[in-house]
Amino acid sequence: MKKLRESVGERLNKFVEDWTLPRQLSGGDVYGEAAKSTHSKTWRPRLEEADTVGTSVCPFCAVGCSQLIYAKDKKPIHIEGDPRSPVNQGTLCPKGAGTLGTLLSPKRINKVLYRAPRATEWEEKPLDWAMDRIAQLTKKTRDQTFVSRMPDGRTVNHTLGLASLGGATMDNEENYLIKKLFGGGLGMVSIENQARI
Ligand code: SF4
Repeated sequence: MKKLRESVGERLNKFVEDWTLPRQLSGGDVYGEAAKSTHSKTWRPRLEEADTVGTSVCPFCAVGCSQLIYAKDKKPIHIEGDPRSPVNQGTLCPKGAGTLGTLLSPKRINKVLYRAPRATEWEEKPLDWAMDRIAQLTKKTRDQTFVSRMPDGRTVNHTLGLASLGGATMDNEENYLIKKLFGGGLGMVSIENQARI
């Protein structure tokens, strides 16, 4: 019983000693040292371990919120909104705030599946291989289908053999570049984007 009383007494003393309110009311550093409890003193800044910070754009929708990506030993450890952005002013929606999970997920797909003409089986190919193949086929198709003049002599400089359908995650700047590259550069006429924001 005595031991229990001591124990309760000790706990009460600890509680009173650790109670921040009397310290804060007695003046001093109200929001600094006086406001710290034994527990809160053990807290560390969330980004203390980061040794690099870079900028990026959220990949999920056409709003294009700016992000800060914090990394340690070249591995991302935290992503948050960039307060300098006039678009999101440091905020991210729940989807954007989950970008780190997408980035580090072991389920993230980093290969493509390719089925060659007349083949019955899919093959796994690296992304670089897919990018090269897309570039080669784009060039080949443009060369085969590019029309400089119509039969009546009108200059058109276009190809009807290629088309582009953009996704909703593309922002204004990306769509501008697509229009410049595919339209002005390659002569593509059919350029569309599903985003309607
Ligand atoms: S998904 Fe959310 S955080 Fe990402 S760009 Fe769109 S609104 Fe911004």
